[in-house]
Amino acid sequence: MNKPLSIPSFPRLQYGVDIVPVEDGKVLLRSFTGSVMLSGDFVAVVLPLLLPLLDGRHGIEDLAAKFDETLRPEIEDFLTLIQQKGFLGKAAQHGREDDAVMLSSKDCAYWSLYGASASQAATRLAQSTVVVTGLGDVGKIVATMLAASGVGTLVLVEGATLSTRSGGPEEAKASEAEKTELLLRKQYACRIVTIPTTIDDAAGWEETVAAASVVAVLSDTMSMSGYDRANEVCIKHGVPWVSARIDRQRAIIGPFVIPNQTACFACFEARSRANADHPEDHEALYRHWKELNGRRDIWPSLLPFAGIVGNFVALDLLRVLAGEHLSAAAGRIINIDLPTMERSVHEVLKLPRCPACSRLRDRRPTKIWDIIPTETRSVG
Ligand SMILES: [Zn+2]
Repeated sequence: MNKPLSIPSFPRLQYGVDIVPVEDGKVLLRSFTGSVMLSGDFVAVVLPLLLPLLDGRHGIEDLAAKFDETLRPEIEDFLTLIQQKGFLGKAAQHGREDDAVMLSSKDCAYWSLYGASASQAATRLAQSTVVVTGLGDVGKIVATMLAASGVGTLVLVEGATLSTRSGGPEEAKASEAEKTELLLRKQYACRIVTIPTTIDDAAGWEETVAAASVVAVLSDTMSMSGYDRANEVCIKHGVPWVSARIDRQRAIIGPFVIPNQTACFACFEARSRANADHPEDHEALYRHWKELNGRRDIWPSLLPFAGIVGNFVALDLLRVLAGEHLSAAAGRIINIDLPTMERSVHEVLKLPRCPACSRLRDRRPTKIWDIIPTETRSVG
């Protein structure tokens, strides 16, 4: 009688398992989850034939039939061992998981190890709609990486783009969002919608946000154009949003706002004002940054630095969308310092009675006598 197996009915060797022949017929199996050294006749004779068949397309019966019936217990023991070591991939439907996946094999390998499964990640990404606002260097990299990684729909909003890198007069007439759309359409299957205005001028911004999985507002400068509107509408519709901007030699990412769960941008702004040496200057700067829109400033910026920031945001969004990871910037500000290339993380707590996100924001403040117990009040 066959003993019960915990192994998948269509065993598939995990992505990234290295098979290294070592001296005296030994074989080292090495994966992301550990290593195991195997030796003996079974390893020398059966393994070279068995391992290539562990592709998720051969069932246990099928595998056993390819070898002498007397080897079946050893095959089952071997499969159980490598299953325990985490060398077998997650069970695949009908052993044909990869057929449904449109991602690159590297992406599939990543999501099968660090997400639910490759096909689930592909489905989640394909069903995602990401609003990318601000098509400067950072925004273009975010849009390109998301399109290349399987995101189904991108909404490109011009936002506070600085068109300093645009070409001749004809080309300059198109918005950066439209130019990015043309480039992406040539290479990727992603559905793209273009809104060639700022957030504040975008007709149907509420509908755009309501239909989105996540919103990213990006700038190569300290422009915070549209931040207040993005914050307000994303909170209203329960859609997460993240921002990134560059202040001289420092990039600032976040906070990634999960409505009703983590600090919103207004929470962050109020807290950072409270911590400022000169709160009035802080307020004036934020007012200035929120009005900074489409100016052709000569802002010191190196393209690879924008690349680091854009790729950071894109990677984080992909992990949130496909792998259901918590954003690295959820309730946090992440600073990336260009001179030292160091990263620092600052927690941002929700502000009680935040004018933008607190559930109590429309309630009158509690008066001191509301919370004094009756018996105390009766004294004196
Ligand atoms: Zn708030």
